[in-house]
Amino acid sequence: MKGATGFTVIKNGKLVDGTGNSPVERGAVVIENDRILYVGPEAGIPPVPKEAQIIDAKGGTILPGLVEAHFHATYFNVSALDELDIKYPVEYVTLLAANNAKLLLECGYTSARSGGCLFNIDVWLKKAIESDIAPGPRLAASGREICGVGGLMDWNPDFRKIGMEGLILLVNGPNEARAAVRKLVKDGVEWIKTYPTGDAAAPDTNDHHTLCMTFEEMHAVVDMAHNHGLKVTGHCRANEGIKNALRAGYDTIEHATFMDDEAIELLLIRNTPVVSALYFEQATLELGRGYGMTQQILDGHQETLDGGIESAKKIIQAGGRMGIGGDFGFAWNPHGNYARELTYFVRQVGLDPVVALKCATKTGAEIMGREKDFGTLETGKLADILVVDGDVIADIAILENRNRFVAVLQGGIIKAGQLSKPH
Ligand SMILES: [Zn+2]
Repeated sequence: MKGATGFTVIKNGKLVDGTGNSPVERGAVVIENDRILYVGPEAGIPPVPKEAQIIDAKGGTILPGLVEAHFHATYFNVSALDELDIKYPVEYVTLLAANNAKLLLECGYTSARSGGCLFNIDVWLKKAIESDIAPGPRLAASGREICGVGGLMDWNPDFRKIGMEGLILLVNGPNEARAAVRKLVKDGVEWIKTYPTGDAAAPDTNDHHTLCMTFEEMHAVVDMAHNHGLKVTGHCRANEGIKNALRAGYDTIEHATFMDDEAIELLLIRNTPVVSALYFEQATLELGRGYGMTQQILDGHQETLDGGIESAKKIIQAGGRMGIGGDFGFAWNPHGNYARELTYFVRQVGLDPVVALKCATKTGAEIMGREKDFGTLETGKLADILVVDGDVIADIAILENRNRFVAVLQGGIIKAGQLSKPH
């Protein structure tokens, strides 16, 4: 991805640097080429050439570009799970994914960790973004997701003979789990997404269902993935499944819905980051009936939301790491609403906005393994910066409205917002 050349000064805004430190009133950032040269009070801006570009934050907020920690570029706002597998061919899903990546960037998310994708689209989407062919976030790519035969994602009965080619690699035992990882290694992914546990969406493999994958299968995935330098995450709701994932050496835990004290203790041993995706459950409860969800399923989602909020509070209380990602890409939780997850954490989980923004920037970059490059506004880091017209600390929900963005910068280049050139 090409970066900017020359100098840019961003000033006249409240500076929130993503480290969790208190905001700096009348803060400024100076960018030289694609990196940050100076961060601090406006009064301390170093001398810059007179042709430097000036961005006026209009008394609003200057913060790091957001990191969406559970992104599904290829989930095309489906109104039922099985649409993922059967509705469109790879050609069309690829175009939809490119559109979602562009939208994410326009929403202020300059980076994203994928939570799984259809076919092998992430890897090539990432290449297109990095080659400046398509706009989008700096992407940590996943591939087809791994699930045990008969588990949550294996919903097509055998008599239909349609398999799960685009979405899931189904495995039976540790050897097949290793083979699936090797296939993904060849595909070029960075993250392996697995399904250790069930979900309220599927009554037969509900939110307390632990064994969509066995411990042996999960351990085999981690072993093979780590050998190849890949990271592993999993859809983990049930308490025992979360513990299995942590004992197997998972690099992050998605959802972490039901956690007893032992699960929290296991999480803290390696300070494994969690991405809860709570707003997804809220949106499901509000709109799910319109998509044919039964009372039983909605009750399950309510239990999931209650459990997820309780666990998120426990994790934060215990000093654990929380990334912010929303699992968007369903009709009731569509692309474009990404920042609702942040609002939810501030208003419903009770996170201080400065801490919530740290989770959505610094911790996201740590999850991606790229904290040396971005995630905070610090000298030497890439100039991935969001300039917002409005006080984001006073009202986090301003981030839901991209019309309020003065500029979304990636590597010092204005990619979206009011100052971006029409194209
Ligand atoms: Zn997901």
